[in-house]
Amino acid sequence: MTDLDAFIAGLPKAELHIHIEGSLEPELMFELARRNRVAIPFASVEEVRAAYSFSNLQDFLDIYYQGANVLLHEEDFRDLAVAYFDRAAADAVTHAEIFFDPQTHTDRGVAFDTVVRGLLAGMDEARERHGLTSKLILCFLRHLDEDAAFATLRKAEPWLERIEAVGLDSSEVGHPPSKFARVFAAAAERGLKRVAHAGEEGPPEYVREALDILRVDRLDHGNRSLEDPALVDRLAREGMTLTVCPLSNLKLCGVKDMAEHPLDRMLALGLRATVNSDDPAYFGGYVNDNYRAVAAARRLSRDQLATLARNSFLGSFLGESEKAARIARLDAYLA
Ligand SMILES: [Zn+2]
Repeated sequence: MTDLDAFIAGLPKAELHIHIEGSLEPELMFELARRNRVAIPFASVEEVRAAYSFSNLQDFLDIYYQGANVLLHEEDFRDLAVAYFDRAAADAVTHAEIFFDPQTHTDRGVAFDTVVRGLLAGMDEARERHGLTSKLILCFLRHLDEDAAFATLRKAEPWLERIEAVGLDSSEVGHPPSKFARVFAAAAERGLKRVAHAGEEGPPEYVREALDILRVDRLDHGNRSLEDPALVDRLAREGMTLTVCPLSNLKLCGVKDMAEHPLDRMLALGLRATVNSDDPAYFGGYVNDNYRAVAAARRLSRDQLATLARNSFLGSFLGESEKAARIARLDAYLA
Protein backbone atom coordinates (compact mmCIF):
# COMPACT_ATOMS: atom_id res chain seq x y z
CA MET A 1 0.00 0.00 0.00
CA THR A 2 1.37 3.43 -0.92
CA ASP A 3 1.44 6.28 1.58
CA LEU A 4 -1.42 7.92 -0.26
CA ASP A 5 -3.50 4.70 -0.15
CA ALA A 6 -2.89 4.48 3.60
CA PHE A 7 -3.92 8.12 3.96
CA ILE A 8 -7.17 7.39 2.06
CA ALA A 9 -7.82 4.22 4.07
CA GLY A 10 -7.91 6.13 7.35
CA LEU A 11 -9.49 9.34 6.06
CA PRO A 12 -12.84 9.85 7.86
CA LYS A 13 -15.54 10.38 5.24
CA ALA A 14 -19.25 10.29 4.51
CA GLU A 15 -20.79 8.49 1.56
CA LEU A 16 -23.70 10.33 -0.06
CA HIS A 17 -24.38 8.42 -3.28
CA ILE A 18 -24.86 4.70 -2.82
CA HIS A 19 -27.81 2.67 -4.09
CA ILE A 20 -28.21 -0.05 -1.51
CA GLU A 21 -29.50 -2.49 -4.14
CA GLY A 22 -26.30 -1.73 -6.07
CA SER A 23 -24.23 -3.14 -3.20
CA LEU A 24 -25.61 -6.63 -3.80
CA GLU A 25 -22.48 -8.73 -4.31
CA PRO A 26 -22.76 -11.88 -6.48
CA GLU A 27 -22.04 -14.05 -3.41
CA LEU A 28 -24.98 -12.59 -1.48
CA MET A 29 -27.14 -12.76 -4.61
CA PHE A 30 -26.45 -16.50 -4.76
CA GLU A 31 -27.01 -17.00 -1.05
CA LEU A 32 -30.36 -15.20 -1.15
CA ALA A 33 -31.41 -17.02 -4.34
CA ARG A 34 -30.80 -20.31 -2.52
CA ARG A 35 -32.41 -19.21 0.73
CA ASN A 36 -35.51 -17.87 -1.05
CA ARG A 37 -35.59 -20.51 -3.83
CA VAL A 38 -35.52 -17.85 -6.52
CA ALA A 39 -34.23 -18.83 -9.96
CA ILE A 40 -31.57 -16.50 -11.37
CA PRO A 41 -30.24 -16.67 -14.92
CA PHE A 42 -26.64 -17.32 -13.83
CA ALA A 43 -25.02 -20.63 -12.95
CA SER A 44 -22.19 -19.24 -10.87
CA VAL A 45 -20.75 -16.17 -9.16
CA GLU A 46 -18.24 -16.03 -12.05
CA GLU A 47 -21.05 -15.89 -14.58
CA VAL A 48 -22.58 -12.95 -12.77
CA ARG A 49 -19.25 -11.14 -12.68
CA ALA A 50 -18.80 -11.81 -16.39
CA ALA A 51 -22.21 -10.27 -17.09
CA TYR A 52 -21.09 -7.03 -15.43
CA SER A 53 -19.64 -5.52 -18.58
CA PHE A 54 -21.76 -2.61 -19.64
CA SER A 55 -21.54 -0.05 -22.35
CA ASN A 56 -24.14 2.30 -20.92
CA LEU A 57 -26.56 3.00 -18.10
CA GLN A 58 -29.40 0.93 -19.58
CA ASP A 59 -27.28 -2.25 -19.95
CA PHE A 60 -26.35 -1.92 -16.30
CA LEU A 61 -29.93 -1.31 -15.18
CA ASP A 62 -31.13 -4.46 -16.97
CA ILE A 63 -28.89 -6.72 -14.89
CA TYR A 64 -29.35 -4.63 -11.74
CA TYR A 65 -33.12 -5.23 -11.77
CA GLN A 66 -32.59 -8.98 -12.33
CA GLY A 67 -30.29 -9.14 -9.32
CA ALA A 68 -32.81 -7.40 -7.10
CA ASN A 69 -35.29 -10.26 -7.64
CA VAL A 70 -33.62 -12.31 -4.90
CA LEU A 71 -34.58 -9.71 -2.26
CA LEU A 72 -37.89 -10.79 -0.76
CA HIS A 73 -37.98 -10.68 3.03
CA GLU A 74 -37.15 -8.15 5.71
CA GLU A 75 -34.02 -10.09 6.68
CA ASP A 76 -32.79 -10.01 3.06
CA PHE A 77 -32.85 -6.23 3.07
CA ARG A 78 -31.22 -6.16 6.49
CA ASP A 79 -28.46 -8.52 5.32
CA LEU A 80 -27.93 -6.38 2.23
CA ALA A 81 -27.61 -3.22 4.30
CA VAL A 82 -25.37 -4.82 6.93
CA ALA A 83 -23.00 -6.13 4.24
CA TYR A 84 -22.70 -2.62 2.80
CA PHE A 85 -22.19 -0.94 6.17
CA ASP A 86 -19.48 -3.45 7.15
CA ARG A 87 -17.63 -2.56 3.94
CA ALA A 88 -18.21 1.15 4.46
CA ALA A 89 -16.95 1.05 8.05
CA ALA A 90 -13.78 -0.69 6.82
CA ASP A 91 -13.32 2.30 4.48
CA ALA A 92 -13.52 4.80 7.38
CA VAL A 93 -17.03 5.89 6.37
CA THR A 94 -18.58 7.32 9.54
CA HIS A 95 -21.85 8.44 7.96
CA ALA A 96 -23.78 7.19 4.92
CA GLU A 97 -26.92 8.41 3.18
CA ILE A 98 -28.26 5.45 1.26
CA PHE A 99 -30.68 5.39 -1.67
CA PHE A 100 -33.29 2.70 -2.01
CA ASP A 101 -35.66 2.03 -4.91
CA PRO A 102 -38.99 0.92 -3.41
CA GLN A 103 -40.65 0.53 -6.81
CA THR A 104 -38.13 -2.12 -7.83
CA HIS A 105 -39.57 -4.20 -5.00
CA THR A 106 -43.21 -3.18 -4.73
CA ASP A 107 -43.68 -3.79 -8.47
CA ARG A 108 -42.81 -7.47 -7.92
CA GLY A 109 -45.05 -7.85 -4.88
CA VAL A 110 -42.70 -7.08 -2.00
CA ALA A 111 -44.35 -4.73 0.51
CA PHE A 112 -42.90 -1.24 0.98
CA ASP A 113 -42.90 -1.84 4.74
CA THR A 114 -40.84 -5.03 4.35
CA VAL A 115 -38.15 -3.11 2.48
CA VAL A 116 -38.03 -0.22 4.93
CA ARG A 117 -38.12 -2.38 8.05
CA GLY A 118 -35.21 -4.45 6.77
CA LEU A 119 -33.10 -1.46 5.79
CA LEU A 120 -33.78 0.35 9.06
CA ALA A 121 -32.77 -2.79 10.99
CA GLY A 122 -29.49 -2.83 9.04
CA MET A 123 -28.96 0.88 9.74
CA ASP A 124 -29.56 0.39 13.46
CA GLU A 125 -27.14 -2.53 13.48
CA ALA A 126 -24.45 -0.45 11.75
CA ARG A 127 -24.76 2.21 14.40
CA GLU A 128 -24.38 -0.34 17.20
CA ARG A 129 -21.62 -2.32 15.52
CA HIS A 130 -19.49 0.47 14.05
CA GLY A 131 -20.86 3.77 15.36
CA LEU A 132 -21.71 4.43 11.70
CA THR A 133 -24.71 6.73 11.34
CA SER A 134 -26.94 6.72 8.28
CA LYS A 135 -29.97 8.25 6.63
CA LEU A 136 -32.41 6.84 4.13
CA ILE A 137 -33.27 8.42 0.75
CA LEU A 138 -36.29 7.16 -1.14
CA CYS A 139 -35.67 7.24 -4.88
CA PHE A 140 -38.39 7.36 -7.52
CA LEU A 141 -37.67 5.41 -10.69
CA ARG A 142 -37.78 8.07 -13.39
CA HIS A 143 -38.62 5.67 -16.24
CA LEU A 144 -41.96 5.08 -14.48
CA ASP A 145 -44.69 7.72 -14.43
CA GLU A 146 -45.72 10.43 -12.00
CA ASP A 147 -48.72 8.46 -10.69
CA ALA A 148 -46.43 5.61 -9.67
CA ALA A 149 -44.15 8.06 -7.86
CA PHE A 150 -47.15 9.53 -6.00
CA ALA A 151 -48.30 6.03 -5.03
CA THR A 152 -44.83 5.37 -3.61
CA LEU A 153 -44.85 8.62 -1.66
CA ARG A 154 -48.19 7.58 -0.13
CA LYS A 155 -46.71 4.25 0.94
CA ALA A 156 -43.88 6.16 2.62
CA GLU A 157 -46.31 8.26 4.71
CA PRO A 158 -46.05 6.11 7.89
CA TRP A 159 -42.24 6.16 7.68
CA LEU A 160 -41.54 9.84 7.12
CA GLU A 161 -39.87 10.19 10.52
CA ARG A 162 -37.11 7.89 9.32
CA ILE A 163 -36.85 8.92 5.68
CA GLU A 164 -34.64 11.95 5.15
CA ALA A 165 -35.12 12.77 1.50
CA VAL A 166 -36.50 11.75 -1.85
CA GLY A 167 -34.32 11.20 -4.91
CA LEU A 168 -34.63 10.43 -8.59
CA ASP A 169 -32.73 7.64 -10.35
CA SER A 170 -32.78 5.04 -13.17
CA SER A 171 -32.70 5.87 -16.90
CA GLU A 172 -32.00 9.59 -17.19
CA VAL A 173 -32.20 10.45 -20.89
CA GLY A 174 -35.79 11.08 -21.97
CA HIS A 175 -36.98 11.40 -18.36
CA PRO A 176 -36.18 14.98 -17.34
CA PRO A 177 -36.57 16.17 -13.74
CA SER A 178 -39.60 18.28 -14.73
CA LYS A 179 -41.59 15.05 -15.14
CA PHE A 180 -41.58 14.81 -11.32
CA ALA A 181 -42.21 18.46 -10.42
CA ARG A 182 -45.43 17.82 -8.54
CA VAL A 183 -44.30 14.79 -6.58
CA PHE A 184 -41.15 16.61 -5.45
CA ALA A 185 -43.28 19.57 -4.37
CA ALA A 186 -45.46 17.17 -2.37
CA ALA A 187 -42.35 15.65 -0.78
CA ALA A 188 -41.11 19.13 0.17
CA GLU A 189 -44.49 19.88 1.80
CA ARG A 190 -43.97 16.79 3.93
CA GLY A 191 -40.63 18.13 5.15
CA LEU A 192 -38.46 15.82 3.03
CA LYS A 193 -35.21 17.02 1.51
CA ARG A 194 -34.67 16.51 -2.23
CA VAL A 195 -31.86 15.14 -4.36
CA ALA A 196 -31.84 14.02 -7.98
CA HIS A 197 -29.55 12.33 -10.47
CA ALA A 198 -28.91 14.92 -13.17
CA GLY A 199 -26.20 15.53 -15.71
CA GLU A 200 -24.92 11.95 -15.61
CA GLU A 201 -25.96 11.14 -19.18
CA GLY A 202 -28.52 13.94 -19.50
CA PRO A 203 -27.71 17.49 -20.64
CA PRO A 204 -26.99 20.57 -18.47
CA GLU A 205 -30.64 21.56 -18.96
CA TYR A 206 -31.62 18.61 -16.74
CA VAL A 207 -29.37 20.00 -14.00
CA ARG A 208 -31.11 23.38 -14.26
CA GLU A 209 -34.48 21.63 -13.99
CA ALA A 210 -33.32 19.76 -10.88
CA LEU A 211 -32.31 23.09 -9.31
CA ASP A 212 -35.22 25.26 -10.43
CA ILE A 213 -38.13 22.83 -10.62
CA LEU A 214 -37.28 20.09 -8.11
CA ARG A 215 -35.43 22.56 -5.84
CA VAL A 216 -32.85 19.94 -4.90
CA ASP A 217 -30.66 20.23 -1.82
CA ARG A 218 -27.94 18.15 -3.48
CA LEU A 219 -27.11 17.04 -6.99
CA ASP A 220 -26.22 13.43 -7.86
CA HIS A 221 -23.43 13.21 -10.46
CA GLY A 222 -23.83 16.58 -12.20
CA ASN A 223 -20.81 15.90 -14.43
CA ARG A 224 -22.31 17.38 -17.58
CA SER A 225 -22.77 20.73 -15.81
CA LEU A 226 -19.17 21.30 -16.88
CA GLU A 227 -20.41 21.89 -20.44
CA ASP A 228 -22.16 25.05 -19.26
CA PRO A 229 -19.90 27.70 -17.63
CA ALA A 230 -22.82 29.81 -16.35
CA LEU A 231 -24.26 26.73 -14.66
CA VAL A 232 -20.89 25.91 -13.09
CA ASP A 233 -20.69 29.45 -11.68
CA ARG A 234 -24.14 29.11 -10.24
CA LEU A 235 -23.45 25.71 -8.64
CA ALA A 236 -20.25 27.09 -7.10
CA ARG A 237 -21.96 30.27 -5.87
CA GLU A 238 -24.82 28.33 -4.29
CA GLY A 239 -22.47 25.84 -2.66
CA MET A 240 -24.33 22.94 -4.26
CA THR A 241 -22.88 19.55 -3.39
CA LEU A 242 -22.19 17.19 -6.29
CA THR A 243 -22.04 13.47 -5.50
CA VAL A 244 -19.47 12.31 -8.04
CA CYS A 245 -18.87 8.60 -8.69
CA PRO A 246 -15.55 8.05 -10.54
CA LEU A 247 -15.64 4.26 -11.08
CA SER A 248 -19.28 4.47 -12.15
CA ASN A 249 -18.36 7.18 -14.67
CA LEU A 250 -15.65 4.91 -16.04
CA LYS A 251 -17.76 1.76 -16.11
CA LEU A 252 -20.73 3.49 -17.76
CA CYS A 253 -18.39 5.27 -20.17
CA GLY A 254 -19.00 8.81 -18.89
CA VAL A 255 -15.20 9.07 -19.13
CA LYS A 256 -13.05 6.94 -21.45
CA ASP A 257 -10.15 6.78 -19.06
CA MET A 258 -9.79 7.66 -15.37
CA ALA A 259 -6.94 9.94 -16.42
CA GLU A 260 -9.61 12.13 -18.06
CA HIS A 261 -11.84 12.31 -15.00
CA PRO A 262 -12.87 15.92 -14.23
CA LEU A 263 -12.90 15.62 -10.42
CA ASP A 264 -9.96 17.95 -9.76
CA ARG A 265 -11.25 20.36 -12.42
CA MET A 266 -14.53 20.48 -10.48
CA LEU A 267 -12.64 21.36 -7.29
CA ALA A 268 -10.60 24.00 -9.12
CA LEU A 269 -13.84 25.55 -10.41
CA GLY A 270 -15.06 25.88 -6.83
CA LEU A 271 -17.61 23.08 -7.01
CA ARG A 272 -18.32 21.16 -3.83
CA ALA A 273 -17.53 17.74 -5.25
CA THR A 274 -17.54 14.52 -3.24
CA VAL A 275 -16.45 10.94 -4.01
CA ASN A 276 -18.92 8.06 -3.86
CA SER A 277 -19.39 4.49 -5.07
CA ASP A 278 -22.88 4.59 -6.69
CA ASP A 279 -23.41 0.81 -7.24
CA PRO A 280 -20.25 -0.67 -5.75
CA ALA A 281 -20.99 -4.35 -6.44
CA TYR A 282 -21.42 -3.58 -10.12
CA PHE A 283 -18.89 -0.85 -10.79
CA GLY A 284 -15.74 -2.38 -9.36
CA GLY A 285 -15.37 -0.90 -5.95
CA TYR A 286 -16.46 0.74 -2.73
CA VAL A 287 -15.78 4.32 -1.72
CA ASN A 288 -12.06 3.95 -1.02
CA ASP A 289 -11.57 2.14 -4.32
CA ASN A 290 -13.07 5.25 -5.93
CA TYR A 291 -10.77 7.59 -3.99
CA ARG A 292 -7.72 5.47 -4.85
CA ALA A 293 -8.55 5.13 -8.54
CA VAL A 294 -9.11 8.82 -9.13
CA ALA A 295 -6.24 9.89 -6.85
CA ALA A 296 -3.79 7.73 -8.79
CA ALA A 297 -5.06 8.67 -12.25
CA ARG A 298 -5.34 12.39 -11.55
CA ARG A 299 -2.39 12.60 -9.12
CA LEU A 300 -4.52 14.17 -6.41
CA SER A 301 -2.77 15.71 -3.41
CA ARG A 302 -3.54 15.05 0.24
CA ASP A 303 -5.09 18.53 0.38
CA GLN A 304 -7.45 17.70 -2.47
CA LEU A 305 -8.40 14.38 -0.84
CA ALA A 306 -9.00 16.14 2.48
CA THR A 307 -11.23 18.68 0.70
CA LEU A 308 -13.25 15.85 -0.85
CA ALA A 309 -13.72 14.25 2.59
CA ARG A 310 -14.62 17.60 4.16
CA ASN A 311 -17.13 18.21 1.35
CA SER A 312 -18.76 14.85 2.10
CA PHE A 313 -19.64 16.02 5.62
CA LEU A 314 -20.58 19.56 4.54
CA GLY A 315 -22.89 18.14 1.86
CA SER A 316 -24.51 15.59 4.16
CA PHE A 317 -27.91 16.01 5.82
CA LEU A 318 -26.41 15.85 9.30
CA GLY A 319 -27.34 18.73 11.62
CA GLU A 320 -24.91 21.64 11.88
CA SER A 321 -23.40 20.64 15.24
CA GLU A 322 -22.99 17.06 14.09
CA LYS A 323 -21.29 18.23 10.89
CA ALA A 324 -18.90 20.34 12.95
CA ALA A 325 -18.08 17.35 15.16
CA ARG A 326 -17.34 15.14 12.14
CA ILE A 327 -15.16 17.81 10.57
CA ALA A 328 -13.29 18.26 13.87
CA ARG A 329 -12.52 14.52 13.76
CA LEU A 330 -11.35 14.86 10.18
CA ASP A 331 -9.10 17.78 11.17
CA ALA A 332 -7.67 15.70 14.02
CA TYR A 333 -6.83 12.96 11.51
CA LEU A 334 -5.18 15.45 9.18
CA ALA A 335 -3.13 16.89 12.03
ZN1 LIG B 1 -26.59 6.69 -8.78
